[in-house]
Amino acid sequence: MVSAVEQGSVALPPLDFSALERPELEQAAIGLGLPGFRGRQIFQWIHHQGVSDFSAMTSLPQELRAALAAHGAIAEPTLMAKQVSSDGTTKFLLQLGDGRQIEAVYIPDTPAQTFCISTQVGCAMACGFCLTGKMGLLRNLTAGEISGQVRVLAKETGLAASAFNIVLMGMGEPLHNYDATMKALRILTDDQGLAVPPRRITLSTVGVLPGLQRLAEEPIMPNLAISLHATTDEQRDVLAPINRKYKLRELMDVCRAFPLRRRGRITFEYVLLDQVNDTPDDARRLVRLLEGIQAKVNLLPLNEAAGIPYRRPSDERVNAFAAILAERGVTVSVRKSRGRDIRAACGQLLVETVK
Ligand code: SAH
Repeated sequence: MVSAVEQGSVALPPLDFSALERPELEQAAIGLGLPGFRGRQIFQWIHHQGVSDFSAMTSLPQELRAALAAHGAIAEPTLMAKQVSSDGTTKFLLQLGDGRQIEAVYIPDTPAQTFCISTQVGCAMACGFCLTGKMGLLRNLTAGEISGQVRVLAKETGLAASAFNIVLMGMGEPLHNYDATMKALRILTDDQGLAVPPRRITLSTVGVLPGLQRLAEEPIMPNLAISLHATTDEQRDVLAPINRKYKLRELMDVCRAFPLRRRGRITFEYVLLDQVNDTPDDARRLVRLLEGIQAKVNLLPLNEAAGIPYRRPSDERVNAFAAILAERGVTVSVRKSRGRDIRAACGQLLVETVK
């Protein structure tokens, strides 16, 4: 397949209307000599009705539909394969316009319905226990591709008109693709589109500090989850190499100052690696690190995979770690691993067949 870059020198690719926010679409309509409301209608068709074909936009004049189809595109990820786990978790393999592939996951009844979506093809963060990290970063997703995953999953699961949660916990580091991620959130939360309330969206980050500082100023504020995984710089430097650049102390300072909504808390994700970061000392250090932060801890017992040099701790070790936090007043939960049989669980998203 010819990539967009190779095509670029020959002809410009058609404008992707699904990557435009509603105000941008209204402006684009005005730029084409149309009334601004035409832009709003197109936005509604794409994001509220889930239509990916201009000819189906029946409230638009016939000639406009034809012109849009001739010059524009609605780049929706194409569903290539779907795998359903014994627990109902469903993994979707999606193909993008340039042939690259990503994965997105539907996690039912947790108790909410949750879509776990990707922000990059691969990831540059290279965390030592994560399969996606092994791929390296192939490219950023566009805002259209990020929000498009939600449209595809909503259609596939029949949930477009119901309440669902979105977690940016698929492939990639959202704050390393900041602009497209925030644009996707503006599209997803727009009340003329899918209208997902920001409190139903969780952005998970390994702690790209400049991104976190920008996020603190955003008008649309998702819930925040920080992938912490270690309590000393020495250990975090190894497990989450971004720590060599942004130290634990700075990360915790930014978290401490982060604006939270009323009764809001930051989730700290902590992957438990047998005999590595799961000792009682680690647990006690974690409690101290979290002092002064409205926090809850989500423990992720490692999902093992070939090529990952760590083991999952026993349930006894996981429970002992959780108990130390709980005894000291820290809210703690253990993430139930979903979809492990189809490799859809945290850190297991990897597309082996990328060209
Ligand atoms: N880059 C973002 C988004 C990924 S979210 C982030 O780091 O937060 C996926 C979560 O699963 C992260 O907390 C990640 O550290 C965790 N994870 C990665 N590999 C894992 C594995 N093998 N087992 C359990 N959790 C894992």
